Amino acid sequence: MGSLNLKSIRKAFGTHEVLKGIDLEVKDGEFVIFVGPSGCGKSTLLRVIAGLEDATSGSVQIDGQEVINTPPAKRGIAMVFQSYALYPHLTVKDNMGLGLKQMGAPKAEVDAKVAKASGMLSLEPYLARRPAELSGGQRQRVAIGRAIVREPKLFLFDEPLSNLDAALRVNTRLEIARLHRSLKATMIYVTHDQVEAMTLADKIVVLNAGQIEQIGSPMELYNRPANTFVAGFIGSPQ
Ligand code: ADP
Ligand code: MG
Repeated sequence: MGSLNLKSIRKAFGTHEVLKGIDLEVKDGEFVIFVGPSGCGKSTLLRVIAGLEDATSGSVQIDGQEVINTPPAKRGIAMVFQSYALYPHLTVKDNMGLGLKQMGAPKAEVDAKVAKASGMLSLEPYLARRPAELSGGQRQRVAIGRAIVREPKLFLFDEPLSNLDAALRVNTRLEIARLHRSLKATMIYVTHDQVEAMTLADKIVVLNAGQIEQIGSPMELYNRPANTFVAGFIGSPQ
């Protein structure tokens, strides 16, 4: 399970309204991509969904339950950031297991889940290393592994590949697509990259200045953009 329902989400920082009424339904198991110009509110929206930021008003439902007052750790969500956000002093194994350990899971369970996730991501050879001893691509795989270990209902990715070089971006994108198929989890993914959006998404959400311009499948947006803004974003290579 991992459906998401956003109703009239607004978020202001002081007098600056960054999200201006977002309504969105994401079905269990869907892969949804957010695209839009820098500063349009994509990261803020992910942070509101995760509970890392309080909405000014509106409703966030996961599997039909209101979670607006539920702390991030209890929402069943895992977030993967562009910057990896790994702990430098912990090994790969401990970075991946930390979330479960903090939730009180027994060591045997943590070890088993870390072993399974590291197998899925071919990270077994690196489990004893620290982040500084890994490449950028390996670090991002650890960050993805850490999310998988927690078995979230909903994965949120905030431009996870933008620090990687072109070849690694392709490999990691294919790996994320594979994970989506095998985990059958709901994934929401922010990107600037048109190829990522067109190849990964069941549904693309085009954001502009805190509002949704259009929601549709890649082909719908490509063939029938609602306006020139969407056409400029999806229709032509950037
Ligand atoms: P995007 O991810 O689409 O590039 P963000 O969600 O990061 O955009 O930011 C949207 C707007 O909100 C920007 O104008 C940004 O400066 C502002 N913003 C984001 N976080 C904060 C914050 N903590 N305090 C004040 N303004 C913020
Ligand atoms: Mg952002």
